[in-house]
Amino acid sequence: MNKITILGSGTSTGVPILGCNCSICQSIDPRNKRLRTSILLETDQAKNILIDASPDLRTQLLRTKTNRLDAVIITHDHADHTHGVDDLRPFSFKNSSPLPLFADLYALDSLTIKFPYIFQREKVFADKPIIGGGIPLLDLHPLLPGANLVANETFHFEALPHGHGESLCFIHKKFGYMIDCREIPELVIEKFRDAKLEILIIDCLRYEPHQTHLHLDLALKYIQEIAPKTAILTHMGHELDYLDLTKELQKRGSRNVFPAVDGQSFLYS
Ligand SMILES: [Zn+2]
Ligand SMILES: [Zn+2]
Repeated sequence: MNKITILGSGTSTGVPILGCNCSICQSIDPRNKRLRTSILLETDQAKNILIDASPDLRTQLLRTKTNRLDAVIITHDHADHTHGVDDLRPFSFKNSSPLPLFADLYALDSLTIKFPYIFQREKVFADKPIIGGGIPLLDLHPLLPGANLVANETFHFEALPHGHGESLCFIHKKFGYMIDCREIPELVIEKFRDAKLEILIIDCLRYEPHQTHLHLDLALKYIQEIAPKTAILTHMGHELDYLDLTKELQKRGSRNVFPAVDGQSFLYS
């Protein structure tokens, strides 16, 4: 079996939000504590694949006691999915070769510009030696729509509209992952439905509509169309209390839909 672990299920600020006094940010329920959205895949071929390098990456991978990564996939270039990239240093030091990092062409360009000391090291250190704590050794690999090999595992990628750009969603065997999107095009819904997913993890920021994310009504509509065995809501903001949302899902008859909880794991074939 393959295993997914929810490293973080929170929106870009995380929950609680710094300085927020709302009841959910002040909640003592550990299920309302959400690090930034990210997951770890441990495949049945013993490959560890990290999806997104969140600003909480170090805390997240200490919790899972992850001591090896075979690849990193970046869904899009936003800060909450990329700004933990420096925390990948220990993994690239351990490997004899650079750690492969996969993203679409736009995100690869953006990472190269945002982190020149990592991705333009030849240029930045052309006239001076690298001294001090070292820098992550990461090899960039482009992802194109359709089937791609990542750490010898086949992933099927599609692009979803998100903000001014796009975010990648993917299918790996019987698992589907779609985060950070305003809507899901019909063709992508069909691909995901045809995959007969055991687990779908999907964007659900809050109850009210949002410019760049799915809200509950829309997420549930897509879940119904894709028809996975189990659906998990993620990238949640401080509008969503775990218990209230669970009751709301029961009220709506969405018996196969659950809010994500940081640290939770799921198996799929
Ligand atoms: Zn995000
Ligand atoms: Zn709050």
